[in-house]
Amino acid sequence: MSAVHTHEADDLRELYRELILDHARSPRHFGKLDAATHTARGINPLCGDRLQLFLQLDQAERIAAASFEGSGCAISVASASLLTDSVIGMSATEALELFTAFTAQLCDQQDVAVVIPRLGKLQALSGVREFPARVKCATLAWHALESAISQRSATATTE
Ligand code: ZN
Repeated sequence: MSAVHTHEADDLRELYRELILDHARSPRHFGKLDAATHTARGINPLCGDRLQLFLQLDQAERIAAASFEGSGCAISVASASLLTDSVIGMSATEALELFTAFTAQLCDQQDVAVVIPRLGKLQALSGVREFPARVKCATLAWHALESAISQRSATATTE
């Protein structure tokens, strides 16, 4: 019985590993977003990850577009790619709730079973919690998301 469960866990881990590598090799929404209304940079000196996140919020405060550029380790790039994929179409409030759920998954002792069903494919990064040094890589883009939403970018306030 336990052998079957272990096997399933291994399969899931392999699936997650492939999803992370796929997003690291072919990041979605990579590049500058000229129409961005909000932007923020993230730097993780421990690993050398640097990125800039771009968001375009419409008049209803919904995220119409999101992108990022920069460079870093596979985890940081995959996490930024999964982030942009996940938040497009969300309201700013929903994106901040997702930020809270995602970082709780990696940083808190909170009951993961409560948080995870809302995360969808972002669960692929849940294995990072076993490697505390990599948690900053996985959450870097998310902290940039939180800063970007909380303050308008300089280019958006020129009027
Ligand atoms: Zn990193």
